[in-house]
Amino acid sequence: MDFEHKITVLGSTGSIGTQTLEIARRYKGIRLCALSAYSNIELLEAQTREFMPKLVCVADEKKAREFETKVSDLDVKVVSGKEGLLEAAAFRDAQTVVTAVVGISGLLPTITAIKAGKNIALANKETLVTGGHIVMPLAREYGVKILPVDSEHSAIFQSLQGNPKRIKKIILTASGGPFFKKTREELKNVTPKDALNHPNWSMGAKVTIDSSTLVNKGLEIIEAKWLFGVGIEDIEVVIHRQSILHSAVMYEDNAVIAQLGTPDMRLPIQYALTYPDRLPMENNELDFTQYMALTFEKPDTEAFYALELAKKAGLAGGILPTVFNSSDEAAVKLFLEGKISYPEISEIIKNAMEGVKNIPDPSITEILETDKNIKESIYLRS
Ligand code: NDP
Ligand code: MG
Repeated sequence: MDFEHKITVLGSTGSIGTQTLEIARRYKGIRLCALSAYSNIELLEAQTREFMPKLVCVADEKKAREFETKVSDLDVKVVSGKEGLLEAAAFRDAQTVVTAVVGISGLLPTITAIKAGKNIALANKETLVTGGHIVMPLAREYGVKILPVDSEHSAIFQSLQGNPKRIKKIILTASGGPFFKKTREELKNVTPKDALNHPNWSMGAKVTIDSSTLVNKGLEIIEAKWLFGVGIEDIEVVIHRQSILHSAVMYEDNAVIAQLGTPDMRLPIQYALTYPDRLPMENNELDFTQYMALTFEKPDTEAFYALELAKKAGLAGGILPTVFNSSDEAAVKLFLEGKISYPEISEIIKNAMEGVKNIPDPSITEILETDKNIKESIYLRS
C-alpha cells in the first residue's frame, strides 16, 4: 500500500492510544514518530520496542528516569514532564498529532502541535471545551486540520461531507450510560464499580464516569459547537441505547444524514488518520438483522442535570466551560477515590459554576489558572 502518514500519539497507553497503535500495527504506512504516557512505563516500553519512535515522553518525572534505564539499549530520546509533552507534540517528523491524553492536560500540547504545523486527530475533548475560542482560529491561522476522533463528532463530520451548509440542527446521540432510567434517589448509592461498567463502550475511567453522569454529552455539545460552528441551541441530545447511530445532521429541508456502525472507536480513529480515504477494517461490520430495534428517547435532565449545566456553560462561554470541565475532573477523581458520593459529582459542578464570575474570552493563562484554583478549592473541601 502506498499510503504513508507520520504520526505522534500523545497518551499512547490509554484506551484511544492503544487502539491507535492497533491501527498502526495493521497499516505499516502509519509511522509513529513520538509517543507519550503519564506513568505506565511497562506498556510504553513494549510500544517503544515495537514501533521504535524517535522520541518518548513520560510525564511523571520519576518514572521517566526509570524508563530511560529500561530503554537505554534503544536509539530513542526520553523526555519528561509538561515540557517534555510539548516537545513530543511539536516533534519535527510528525504530520499529525493524535491527542489522546485525558483532561485539560491536552490543551497546551494541542496548541503547541498546531503552532508546529501539525494536523490534529482530536480525541481530547477538553481542549475545545476549555480553549475552543483560541484553538479553532489558531488552526485556521496555521492552515492545519482538526479531525474529530470522538465518535459522535466523527459521525457529524462524515454526515456533513458534500453539504456543510444549511444545517438546521445537529443530533448528538448518547447511550444513556449504565444508569439510564434511574431516579435521583436511586443514584445515591451508585459505586465507582457500577459507574465504570459502561453498557456499550470500553473507555478510560474518566470518560466512562462522565458518560454515566451525562457530563460527557455536555462536554460533547460544547466540542460540537466549536468543531462545526453551530449554536448550543441547535444541538439536540437524543438517547439511543444501542450506540449504532453515532450522530446526525438535519438540514433546513429536514433531511437527516447520519453515520451508523458498530460501537467501535477504531473506526473514527482510523478515519481521522486516513481521511478522506476509507481503508478496510476487520471485525466491525454492522449486521442490521442483529438488532430488533433502534430506539430514540429524550434525556432525563432532572436526574442527569449536569447536561443542562453544560448547556448553560456553553451558552455563556468565556471561562464557564472551563469551570464546568475542571470541577468535573476534580469531582470524578474524588469519586473514584471513594471520597465523595455519586450525586456529589453534579453538585460540585453546579456549585463551582455558581461560585465564579465569568471572564469573557479568557487567555490560556486565565484558563489554566482557573483550572488550578477550581481543582484546589474542591480538593481542600473534600
Ligand atoms: P485513558 O485514561 O485510557 O488514557 C489517557 C492517556 O493519557 C494515557 O496514556 C495516560 O497515561 C495519559 N495521561 C493521563 N494523565 C496525563 C497527564 N496529566 N499528562 C499526560 N498524560 C496523561 O483515556 P482515554 O483514552 O479513554 O481518553 C483520552 C481522551 O480521549 C479523553 O479526553 C477522552 O474524553 C477522549 N475520548 C475517549 C474515548 C474512548 O473511547 N476512550 C471516546 C471519545 C473521546 P498512563 O496510561 O501512563 O496513565
Ligand atoms: Mg463520544
